[in-house]
Amino acid sequence: MKIVHFPHPALRYKAKPLTTIDKKLHLQVGEMFDLMYEARGLALAATQVALPFQFLVMNLTADPQEKDQEQVFLNPVIVERKGTIEDEEGCLSFPGLFQKVRRAKTVKVHAYNLKGEPVEIEAHDLAARAWQHEIDHLHGVLFIDKMGPVARLASRGALKEFEREFRKAQERGEIPENVEIERLLARLEAGEDVPPPSGSKESAEPRP
Ligand code: ZN
Repeated sequence: MKIVHFPHPALRYKAKPLTTIDKKLHLQVGEMFDLMYEARGLALAATQVALPFQFLVMNLTADPQEKDQEQVFLNPVIVERKGTIEDEEGCLSFPGLFQKVRRAKTVKVHAYNLKGEPVEIEAHDLAARAWQHEIDHLHGVLFIDKMGPVARLASRGALKEFEREFRKAQERGEIPENVEIERLLARLEAGEDVPPPSGSKESAEPRP
């Protein structure tokens, strides 16, 4: 498992709601926390590790020592939004890119925890921003879609560079071709036991 970067097709996949909580999910959640801390993130959505299911992990302290702050949410839905606030935002799938994005200041979320119990959360400011950003991920929506025209223009060069890097990684065989990724995501969604198509760190062939 690996955090995928833009423009990996998993980031545009509309994740399916989870219907079972099993050992596999617990293992995936553990791996996602490890990756999130390694990348110094506050939250990570399943689509960011090429898993087509609606769940996310969150620790707003970003501190692996603060285990009691770890939260896992399944099938989250925003049921209420209040106010708006513009602030700088980044994304683990766009390392190094930070831009101003307008979001609701307060949100109310309905979700399920890892025990399958329904939970209701009211979040403000940074937490509300994280929620909106992560829930967007589960629907294939990215923060670049939420940027205003100025931020979007300022991001153009960085996005082109992400696209170049992604294409090169595919040429090296580190990431499957897009059609293959789509096929694997569909198989995962159908419940088949295939590895998430997030790509391997090692290249398939030795590099010169
Ligand atoms: Zn993100």
